[in-house]
Amino acid sequence: QKKHLQRKSETEWWIEPTGPMRVPGIIYGSEDLIEAMDDKVREQVSNVAALPGIQKASYAMPDAHWGYGFPIGGVAAFDPDQGGVISAGGVGFDISCGVRTLHTGLVRDDIERVKETLADALYAHIPAGVGSRGAIRLNPEQMDAMLQGGAAWAVAQGWGLPEDLQAIEERGRMAGADAGCVSPQAKKRQKDEMGTLGSGNHYLEVQEVTDLYDSEIATAFGLQVGDIVLSVHCGSRGLGHQIGTEFLKSMALAARSHGITLPDRELACAPIHSELGQQYLGAMRAAMNCAMANRQIITHLVRQIFAEVLPLAELDLLYDVSHNTCKMEEHDIDGVRKNVFVHRKGATRSFGPGHADIPQAFRSLGQPVLIGGTLGTASYILCGTQQTMGLAFGSAVHGAGRQMSRRQATKQWQGRAVIDELAARGILIRSPSQRGVAEEAPGAYKDVSQVVEAAHVAGLARKVARLEPVICVKG
Ligand code: 5GP
Ligand code: MN
Ligand code: MN
Repeated sequence: QKKHLQRKSETEWWIEPTGPMRVPGIIYGSEDLIEAMDDKVREQVSNVAALPGIQKASYAMPDAHWGYGFPIGGVAAFDPDQGGVISAGGVGFDISCGVRTLHTGLVRDDIERVKETLADALYAHIPAGVGSRGAIRLNPEQMDAMLQGGAAWAVAQGWGLPEDLQAIEERGRMAGADAGCVSPQAKKRQKDEMGTLGSGNHYLEVQEVTDLYDSEIATAFGLQVGDIVLSVHCGSRGLGHQIGTEFLKSMALAARSHGITLPDRELACAPIHSELGQQYLGAMRAAMNCAMANRQIITHLVRQIFAEVLPLAELDLLYDVSHNTCKMEEHDIDGVRKNVFVHRKGATRSFGPGHADIPQAFRSLGQPVLIGGTLGTASYILCGTQQTMGLAFGSAVHGAGRQMSRRQATKQWQGRAVIDELAARGILIRSPSQRGVAEEAPGAYKDVSQVVEAAHVAGLARKVARLEPVICVKG
């Protein structure tokens, strides 16, 4: 891998443009991470660099690994006025999958006594697993209202507090969503899936803050060592997946009529200004609202459970940020401010200090960046920096990133054994699927500390806090 890349700094590796590439590829990571990264990432970064209208460079984050078309951990921005495209594979199937982290107002000692009860209650009341169904049923009118309104809709329905919205990207509602662009099949798949986690990599985790790296930012984020926080990782469930699948197909079929030659069929895309491009934007934004509403409803369920088990808890939302999105943002491109469509697939927005889209409470410091680790290792909270904005359109890592396929993982680990080992270390896992836990074994992922360190050194985001799992409800 390394020998094909030109090292520009400690953590920046370039693929100089050749053949159809319109811009360079840039991969961030330490030497060890780059060495271990699968070759497919380099290939996919280069292919993305060949898409029409791409700006500056095709990027991969330190947690990058192979994905459908675009790598997971890929970032690319397109200028609509230079034939720029939007790509369903560049957003990912789980549209607006993301993480939200809540304070609990509790410390480790407060929960130790009721840990098992809390784990069982969370597992009993928050549906997890493949095709899990919730208690909420949406009729067609409610479905459309949800798709247009996002978390703001959920709060208006009584799931959550108005102040939650201030702590969500886009204040909980993505503008420009068009429920009319979402197929009946996608809506059908979603009608009883609101308030559910989904499978595999998705989780609801009770975590302890174990280390702080930046006391000023940690204070502004309301974090202290010993605090208990709770994180939810899930997305737009069946609806997002259906939208992704449908548009991938129609974008592949229409590419030729748009005059686009695809370097890889998986990179199916449509010009942003085309009818198909606009339809996808409308549908994708609706799916973003679905994901934000979903995490909002789960938050409400979590608060109900805490009210029963730990009535002293106060669950305030720290932040909610998605890592599978395409958003129109203003960025500095070679000295010119331009509106571009930034695809972040398995990459977190990481805006620096002063950006108007950051909640007032910590606007002057930067945006919280919420990073998952694994069910048995640390997770991290980082913060966007000024430098971030000039690197990969204000983006950072989204997790540890897989280093092994699910199949490989199941050959190496058994779910039961993983659960028992973690229980011996005081980490409680609750999951409907032992196979799922084996697929998600800590060893199936890269070392999250290394990934976060690389992101920090590269300037993609600053380290703020380290979290350790206490309870993990896994899909
Ligand atoms: P993805 O969105 O790509 O499926 O996953 C994002 C990241 O979440 C992964 O790269 C991984 O590091 C992290 N992750 C997966 N499962 C868990 C879990 O059970 N707990 C925590 N804390 N992180 C996880
Ligand atoms: Mn995700
Ligand atoms: Mn997801």
